[in-house]
Amino acid sequence: MTRAFNFSAGPATLPESVLRQAQAEMLEWNGVGASIVEISHRSADFMQVAAQAEADLRTLVGIPDDYAVLFLSGGATTQQALLPLNLAAPGQRVDYVVSGHWGKTAARQARPYVDVNIAADSEAGGFRDIPAPAQWRLSADAAYVHITANETIHGVEFRDAPDVGTVPLVADFSSSIASEPIDVTRYGVIYAGAQKNLGPVGITVVIIRRDLLERAGQPRADIFDYRLHAARDSMLNTPPTWNWYLLGLTVKWMLAQGGTAEFARRNAAKAALVYAAIDGSGGFYRNQVAPAVRSRMNIPFFLPSAELDARFVADAKAAGLLALKGHKAVGGIRASLYNAMPLQGAQALVSFMHDFQQRNG
Ligand SMILES: *Cc1c(COP(=O)(O)O)cnc(C)c1O
Repeated sequence: MTRAFNFSAGPATLPESVLRQAQAEMLEWNGVGASIVEISHRSADFMQVAAQAEADLRTLVGIPDDYAVLFLSGGATTQQALLPLNLAAPGQRVDYVVSGHWGKTAARQARPYVDVNIAADSEAGGFRDIPAPAQWRLSADAAYVHITANETIHGVEFRDAPDVGTVPLVADFSSSIASEPIDVTRYGVIYAGAQKNLGPVGITVVIIRRDLLERAGQPRADIFDYRLHAARDSMLNTPPTWNWYLLGLTVKWMLAQGGTAEFARRNAAKAALVYAAIDGSGGFYRNQVAPAVRSRMNIPFFLPSAELDARFVADAKAAGLLALKGHKAVGGIRASLYNAMPLQGAQALVSFMHDFQQRNG
């Protein structure tokens, strides 16, 4: 069996040791005589797994006690719709900074419920930069300000939390959570689908400052209510138990590897290799993102023609480098270098890029 280097943007590569442990425990887990997917979420055995995953995630990301952590289904996109329902009154003003596809999606999910102000938008420039915070048109009375920490498709990322005063900052960290140390206290809410950096698809983490759970929000069913999910330890209904377990294994692996400081170091090294290959190619490979905001997680780039893009993807696949096709919204190539991608994967990609250019440049 050979596992290729998988550059998928999500669902994305997982650590081999995590998959092996899940495989070994698939039929019978922890001496309970059944698989973990076959036992009650309310059993003491599963509750222990769930609590440990939360404790480990708190350690990994540095989440203080005055923040609740929710484990929900529905993906990041569902949270984008639940945020205005939970944090803003009907029709209340909210501010969105749109720095790529996912920021735009987030604003679209909120529009039915609130008065969405696009405080800044870099679409006219092809989402190749993040608008300077000094130029954002923020509303004094906004319920929150929403940003996308890392734009998975356009490959632009915030290097730091922007200062938005006393209005809570809400950030979509789906594709960059745990990729480097962050100061959680700069944010009111951090949310992330797990399938990029935290584990499998099917579970989403919401880290929310507890005082925000007291907001009235707007009329909504219990199942859309963050406060009720927090009060019931994310077990208001049956949570995605298998995904929660796999997330727990992945988080434990990240802690054992040295935590976010170590991943920041590795991720910077991997991204530097790939950007150097692009910038040193004499224009054969092009990344159009402003250098100061280039993503370390997702690197989009282009060859001189769409034909060469397609040949690159096909030849790379034959060489054991998977899922390098760019998102259809931008085309070209995209290499995703999440925490579970080893340095050797980035090295193999760079060496393939050199060879491909030799043969086709
Ligand atoms: C993948 C992604 C999403 C969408 O996640 P779903 O789980 O498909 O809803 C949203 N935001 C960002 C930044 C993403 O990378």
